[in-house]
Amino acid sequence: MLRGLGASADQRGAGPAARRAIDLARQSIRQGRPAPSFDQIVDATKKIVDQESETLLRPVINATGVLIHTNLGRSPLGRRQLDAVVEIAGSYSNLEYDVEEGRRSSRYDHAAKLLTALTGAEAALVTNNNAAAVLVTLVALCAEKEVLISRGELVEIGGEFRIPDVMALSGSRLVEVGTTNRTRLADYRSKVTDATAAILKVHPSNYRVVGFTASVPARKLGELARSTGIPFIHDVGSGFMSAPAGASWAREEPLVDVALSDGADIVTFSGDKLLGGPQAGIILGRGPLVEKIARHPLLRAVRVDKMTLAALEETLRAHMEDRLTDLPLWSMALAATEELEARAKHLAEALSAANKGLKAEAQPVASVTGGGSLPGEELASWAIALDHGERSAAELGRALRHAETPVIGRIADDRLLLDLRSVPPGQDPQLLALVTNALATA
Ligand SMILES: *Cc1c(COP(=O)(O)O)cnc(C)c1O
Repeated sequence: MLRGLGASADQRGAGPAARRAIDLARQSIRQGRPAPSFDQIVDATKKIVDQESETLLRPVINATGVLIHTNLGRSPLGRRQLDAVVEIAGSYSNLEYDVEEGRRSSRYDHAAKLLTALTGAEAALVTNNNAAAVLVTLVALCAEKEVLISRGELVEIGGEFRIPDVMALSGSRLVEVGTTNRTRLADYRSKVTDATAAILKVHPSNYRVVGFTASVPARKLGELARSTGIPFIHDVGSGFMSAPAGASWAREEPLVDVALSDGADIVTFSGDKLLGGPQAGIILGRGPLVEKIARHPLLRAVRVDKMTLAALEETLRAHMEDRLTDLPLWSMALAATEELEARAKHLAEALSAANKGLKAEAQPVASVTGGGSLPGEELASWAIALDHGERSAAELGRALRHAETPVIGRIADDRLLLDLRSVPPGQDPQLLALVTNALATA
């Protein structure tokens, strides 16, 4: 039955698909329709295989211009990060083994060494993601006690992560401080009691309060924490390590080492936002507090995997050795606008020439970093604007999503924009071929 399908279709599970196609043919015959030919059944099988493989995890081309797109997997990993994953995952490793002493050690030690050297923190831990980092921190340090947080920071980040819910889950009691738009240091001070376990500051990642506003700088909270002896926990969100030249759009983002020197006792952030690494949660801070978190049984349930640790180590090394552009996220973020312009013009010309009825034009646009970092900040970028005489922008968008590797753009002013800020330059020839094929077959 698999004759005519080819080896690749066979590998992609054509057997069960062929049985489904035959079942459908039998049903159709029972209902009195003529028996399909062999070729028709082969075609039906191919269609089932294609439909099924479309829903499996696979690469897409991110032409949305959003660099840290949570739905598209946030930060892509670079060659060295991937090589590290392959090397560690494909063999046994010293994950929890001290080779020198010949005995058990901790999986957190390797990354902790790099994290403390990079940031100046006393100690470090890594979890599955930042939501887990915040949760395990609150559970270990604040359960059944009060946590002070500004009303302006009771935020929801990306759907399921709501600070009030996380606090409730941790068993700590939320004490709201100040008002939604204005919170002062005195508001915090007036809420400190014997039951206070921590002061929590959460970076309001994906929105910004504008107008008549006031918030307390982290440095002031650090001073209050020190004078009262209450730990100060700062969830900075994106893991911004250094402000590279040419990234003025990032100046509002809290830097990790500044958060620590401003007096935070614990700092948490994600591995796959501005850090440019794998999905992970990082916990940095004072030795005794990190130790307390490390001993809590919940840490076991949010344990980080060795593949993540391997990719994270390479990510941290890139930061330490000033090889930021080894990280695809930073390579794309720091690409010169003129470079994007030249690519957009070249691709637009090639697309117009290759596709009848398609008008492709290079167009200056503004992209965003996304992923809950830098709300309101824009990066200058260039896009290819697609306009088709017979097809709407939505139809073009659908056709490109059905390309062999889906191409995801965005629609503006009835045109489909393919923003090159989030497309690595090496993908240009593939992008050209995918768009051309998708428009020819759709
Ligand atoms: C993104 C974000 C989180 C959630 O991090 P994940 O790694 O997605 O779990 C929590 N807090 C802040 C401030 C964030 O920006």
